[in-house]
Amino acid sequence: MTEAREDARQQLVRTAAGMAAAGLAPGTSGNLSVRCDGGFWITPTGLAAGALAAEDLCLVRGDGSWDGPYAPSSEWRLHRDLYSARSGVRAVLHAHPPFAVGLACLRRDIPAFHYMIARFGGDSVRCSRYATFGTQELSDAALEALAGRNACLLANHGVLVCAPDLEEALALGVELEELCGQYWRACLLGHPVLLSFEEMAVVLDKFTRYGRQGW
Ligand SMILES: [Zn+2]
Repeated sequence: MTEAREDARQQLVRTAAGMAAAGLAPGTSGNLSVRCDGGFWITPTGLAAGALAAEDLCLVRGDGSWDGPYAPSSEWRLHRDLYSARSGVRAVLHAHPPFAVGLACLRRDIPAFHYMIARFGGDSVRCSRYATFGTQELSDAALEALAGRNACLLANHGVLVCAPDLEEALALGVELEELCGQYWRACLLGHPVLLSFEEMAVVLDKFTRYGRQGW
């Protein structure tokens, strides 16, 4: 095993702990991965994200074969297909945080109610169509909802986020749940006033120029 691989595993364990601490992985839900030579390291199925060691992680290859003391997360296809479709993606986070799941159960896209929606690549965060967890159908639905975006809701399930590194994946996961909570609250009081296409285009341009997204 190379030193670089060892580093990636340690970073994955640290970020998974951060994901649990941020409330993004209740119980044993949620999973996280990082790209490596020949595939990706991913958190195993059935273990809490906040209590992992580097030795618990699983290496999954592009053909779906894997090595590790535990089976990979049942959602490994979501991760594999994102790495395969997008060369700039080096980290993937999947989680079941409460506000996002609530909105995903309404199968509602999150519109441009706040300018920070632009951080996810466009003027909305889409909700995918429904498919059973762990299936290729779910992965296909997720990739569709992620077109031009770095996050989506998964209908009646959770969220999926991709990023150029683990730190950014966690930051985006935390930000998305925060925005879902804000949208939820605004909807409780009425109909949020949405930003126009032009207003969001200005923000998207600024974010791209400041390197906050557009990778
Ligand atoms: Zn899930």
